[in-house]
Amino acid sequence: MPVSQNRRSFLRGGRPSASEWRPPWTTASITDVCTRCDRCVEACPENILFRGDGGFPQIRFTGEGCTLCGECAKACPEPVFDLTREAFPWRAVIRDHCLAKANIHCSTCRDACETSAIRFPPKLGHVAVPEVTLEDCTGCGACVAVCPEDAIGLEAPQTESPSYA
Ligand code: SF4
Ligand code: SF4
Ligand code: SF4
Repeated sequence: MPVSQNRRSFLRGGRPSASEWRPPWTTASITDVCTRCDRCVEACPENILFRGDGGFPQIRFTGEGCTLCGECAKACPEPVFDLTREAFPWRAVIRDHCLAKANIHCSTCRDACETSAIRFPPKLGHVAVPEVTLEDCTGCGACVAVCPEDAIGLEAPQTESPSYA
């Protein structure tokens, strides 16, 4: 099947399209093996999975991030989830309308990040501004969920190889 233009742009780096917001440890082939039984959706204790495009499960980070608890994978009766894969292809990106970038004190995202991927190096004459260490970011979306300005996006890093096809 040809790769869509959106998909190409995501794999090169950039924001995923709606259908690419898949549950952790899944790939584009989810549509071949998922029977749309909703068991993963029902199993998610964070309520971040929902019945999305075509009835296939999708993820959204409104309110909560993914704790990588694995309950979705455990509940699924089909070979959809593979825990040996990287959970998510995207990483957190701090956008320009971040409060700290506007010199307003805020470090809510740092407090939400379990892997300490968001650091605030001191900046002379300016409040400290968040920086994401891509190697430490799992793409869990916890920072996205708590940012009061909706200033954190999730994007595939430009350098990432297209291993999520
Ligand atoms: S790993 Fe846990 S929190 Fe994350 S989507 Fe699956 S069930 Fe929800
Ligand atoms: S929580 Fe949002 S506004 Fe606050 S420092 Fe982090 S990215 Fe900026
Ligand atoms: S998406 Fe990355 S930076 Fe944000 S909380 Fe999760 S691990 Fe931390």
